[in-house]
Amino acid sequence: MHPRDLSDHVAYQAGRGIEEVARELGRDPSEFVKLASNENALGPAPAAVEAIQSAASGVSSYPKATHADLTAALADRWGVTDDQVWLANGGDGAIDYLSRAMLEPGDDILVPTPGFAYYGMSARFHHGDVTEYELSRDDDFTQDARTVLEAYNGERIVYLTSPHNPSGSTIALEAIETIATETDDETLVVVDEAYGEFADVDSAVALLEGENGFEQREDVAVLRTFSKAYGLAGLRLGYAIVPEAWADAYARVNTPFAASELACRAGLAALEDTTHVDRTIDVVETARNAMEADITAHVWPSQGNFVLVDVGRDEAESQSNSDGEATAVAEAMQTRGVIVRDCTSFGLSDCIRITCGTAEETHRAVETLNTVLEERA
Ligand code: PMP
Repeated sequence: MHPRDLSDHVAYQAGRGIEEVARELGRDPSEFVKLASNENALGPAPAAVEAIQSAASGVSSYPKATHADLTAALADRWGVTDDQVWLANGGDGAIDYLSRAMLEPGDDILVPTPGFAYYGMSARFHHGDVTEYELSRDDDFTQDARTVLEAYNGERIVYLTSPHNPSGSTIALEAIETIATETDDETLVVVDEAYGEFADVDSAVALLEGENGFEQREDVAVLRTFSKAYGLAGLRLGYAIVPEAWADAYARVNTPFAASELACRAGLAALEDTTHVDRTIDVVETARNAMEADITAHVWPSQGNFVLVDVGRDEAESQSNSDGEATAVAEAMQTRGVIVRDCTSFGLSDCIRITCGTAEETHRAVETLNTVLEERA
């Protein structure tokens, strides 16, 4: 007997932690900084840590099925009903809930390439399949309605990522509205705003609420997470905001108790700790500006808490081509103690992605990268 062949799925990993890398290289963990997984440079909100500590003794009880307090706070924050907030085990868990809600065996989803791998993995887990629309690097990974609609062929879910991982580009609400209007009534447009707090574009929740001059839509959902701006990646807490008409659907798709009591308590505290989120956003903006200004290679403009860097050699001047350059540069940086994301698994074998760190971490990353690039020129 064998499990299903899901060999395509091994590509999605959050990347190795500092301890693992240090052990492998026989070095001390304190020598490393990790800027590879778009985590929060300031750590969790202090209020969330306190909430976890005070809730710890209660973990012998199951969490409430509705996670009522946090759900109500999120509904209030977004101006939607409690039924529209689907709490889940991370943004990834929310993606699974949408797959469950939408996909019959053989149904397709449409995703960006390059793009976040879990959309496709989740669809395949649910016996669906994946088609792709391409975001062009020569066009700054710009997202518009035409690119998506030209590739669209009746898929059940269309994923838009704004800000986009790994490039940091965004999509305008008008374009999302066009996509939702031009696709079939039975197609759900999912706007993944995992990095939404760092962007200067409005949330697509406006389309669900019928605000800012938009008509209220029944075919758009928005994904959000506590992993990035709130610094709770290890707790696994995310949510989808779904159309109003889906009022009773959560009870049919949710894994019992998937969002833990500790995660929900911490999430509620983090939501209320606006000072920490504001500080996080400041740190990200400073780091993004520093990387865009000081890295000697091409850096794409980003609205996320990371930047994508083209580390390919100028092929006109170089003897060798740039394939594999991302791996070589990421490894050379790692040897010097800076762990970044090699974007080969995104199909970008000459790009790396660097998470925004504190000023000190970011400075170290920039200096290290510039040195490595100079050595390899
Ligand atoms: N969407 C995007 C675009 C992401 O990059 C990530 C994680 N890196 C997620 C969703 C899921 O995040 P999480 O499961 O930690 O909430």
